[in-house]
Amino acid sequence: MFRKGLAMKQAVAGELAADYHSTLVDRVRANNNKWQTGHLRVHLAAEFGFCYGVDRAVDYAYQARRKFPTRQIFLTGEIIHNPRVNDRLRSAGIRFLTDPGESREALTPDDVVILPAFGVTVGMLVQLQEQGCTLVDTTCGSVLNVWKNVLQYSRDGYTAIIHGKVRHEETQATASQVQKYPNGHSLVVLDQAEATLVCDFIRNGGDTATFLSRFTGAVSPGFTPERDLRRVGLANQTTMLMSESLRIGELIKQAMIDRYGSEESTLAYHYRAFDTICSATQDRQDAVKMLLDHQDLDLMIVIGGYNSSNTRNLARLAGKRVPTYHIADAACLVSSREIRHHPGELSPPTAPGTTSPEICTRDWLPHGHLVRIGLTAGASTPDSVVGQILERLEPLATDKR
Ligand code: SF4
Repeated sequence: MFRKGLAMKQAVAGELAADYHSTLVDRVRANNNKWQTGHLRVHLAAEFGFCYGVDRAVDYAYQARRKFPTRQIFLTGEIIHNPRVNDRLRSAGIRFLTDPGESREALTPDDVVILPAFGVTVGMLVQLQEQGCTLVDTTCGSVLNVWKNVLQYSRDGYTAIIHGKVRHEETQATASQVQKYPNGHSLVVLDQAEATLVCDFIRNGGDTATFLSRFTGAVSPGFTPERDLRRVGLANQTTMLMSESLRIGELIKQAMIDRYGSEESTLAYHYRAFDTICSATQDRQDAVKMLLDHQDLDLMIVIGGYNSSNTRNLARLAGKRVPTYHIADAACLVSSREIRHHPGELSPPTAPGTTSPEICTRDWLPHGHLVRIGLTAGASTPDSVVGQILERLEPLATDKR
């Protein structure tokens, strides 16, 4: 198992820079994150794009390709939630076990398997180890920190309540950690509405079957709400909205106080919490707030994969204040009159592994005056994509399409 790279960092540095770097973005950064073209003024967020975990995961994937040129190399799924990066890895000959025709069961000891930045479930790791594959582990340190806290909850008899998306790879991996203890349990809550249902059960009890049916797929095997909601510890998927995670923590804490009383040691027996939002996610959310607070923006553009949790949360944050367009790449800027983008809050629930189709908005770019655009990118978006979007804005600014 390779956990700290494959001693090929220098060998792949040029290739990584060619694929993901942008000199235009460097220039904008050096210009106090401001850039003007025609009647468009762009304000880049102070923190955006590749986080340390993504940077490292992509680096290790390139190193693995270079170190094992003749061996089959697989990823367990998307290395990060950015289609351009994943396609680039496919074109380098790295195969995805989630692609049609691939099978985890067919792996042999000759194969190399890269574990993504979100990590993999306990069960999958055991299987890959039993198959004898060479593993390249790119699990982010911030995800490992969540696992550490969840493991402590299980060890001490607390059910881990995870604020996250039940189908997200990271949340599935985090929830699986509790299996390392025989009586460990987990429950995933998506939002305040689901947390409120949990709080109602903590306060008043309720019908077990109704509760389990409402949280199908979100609880650990054998979960029994009467027993497993008596002592809980809160954790988050690292990319959730911090304000929501804090609110959910407050709701559950208050439910425990209502049920068992506010005496300090009693509360500590029933409720624990650790903030496990990663610093990169937090920095990007803070930078969007700062942009909105300090610049008089006409609109925001948020760049990133449509299945990227942290990107969608940046778009949600911005969308509360100004018209916001979450776009995947420069092709989404169809013209100065038309933009293709993710529907955001309007998007209906989708099947696992799929995202809502793009929608098209007309007359998105105001005319006739200086237009101030805030720009940010999720933690899985390379600078090269940000640079292409800046380049695409140039002709739109002069109405040349
Ligand atoms: S978003 Fe945070 S947890 Fe996820 S890879 Fe980046 S640094 Fe790690």
